[in-house]
Amino acid sequence: MQRCASSRAVAGATEAYAVDRSCGECRCAYPSDRPRFHVVRWAQVSTYKDQGVVLKTMRLGEADRIVTLLTPGHGKVRAVAKGVRKTKSRFGARLEPTNNLSLMCWQGRELDIVTQVEVLDYFRGVRENLDRLEQALVALEAVDQIAQERHSNPAMHRMLVGALRVLNERDSVMTVTAFLWKLLALDGSMPVLDECARCSSKDTLVAFDILQGGLLCSGCRSGVPVSPGAVALLRMVLGGRLATALEEPASEVTKELSTLATRTMEAHIERRLRTPSGFQRGLG
Ligand SMILES: [Zn+2]
Repeated sequence: MQRCASSRAVAGATEAYAVDRSCGECRCAYPSDRPRFHVVRWAQVSTYKDQGVVLKTMRLGEADRIVTLLTPGHGKVRAVAKGVRKTKSRFGARLEPTNNLSLMCWQGRELDIVTQVEVLDYFRGVRENLDRLEQALVALEAVDQIAQERHSNPAMHRMLVGALRVLNERDSVMTVTAFLWKLLALDGSMPVLDECARCSSKDTLVAFDILQGGLLCSGCRSGVPVSPGAVALLRMVLGGRLATALEEPASEVTKELSTLATRTMEAHIERRLRTPSGFQRGLG
């Protein structure tokens, strides 16, 4: 983070500004001999184009909204959408949770400002089906908790759009369960699944404890008991057979793995997810 002459922190201040000790925003010590050069440099660093899935929105004042998005290039972004709650707003309907957008933003110090929006995917099949929407909201909330602001993460964006596409097309009880497990793995918490996470025994694995690193044998058991069916399904999800796992019909095993995914995610983010109760009910 560069600081300008008046010590206001300026995200993305260019070297030119740093040298001249001016930030282009408060225009302190603005060098009068080279104004055009500085204006151009500032314009280049302060706007950006990216895609983004809307994770949530929040009211701001009378007419504005703060939109939280997951972008591939800038990670989690929080941006102000001005005037969106007025009836004539061009943006309003486009900035709803689950939409995948193409957007242009002006980069601010804490909050960015959305300047242009086009919808790439509406996911109508999710938005118009309460069960699917409820499942999608679990995925969005988990991403909101895990994604880091302004840290590019194309894999996470790709995974989220992929899960929303599957959810949009069909009822699969495994979509969001599998997404939560993949998200944990992407975030560095890939559980040990092929041997006991504690003693490396290849015996039958009977329990799951994320604090121990994954599945456990009967001698080391802690955490929650898991059925052989859940073990097999989890290996499918994280072992490269996702398409097969998504075909799994609703059963006690899918319900078990869904509950385990939620509990493990909650342990990982160290807080409760707000939306999982309905999500698990829907899998019963
Ligand atoms: Zn063991």
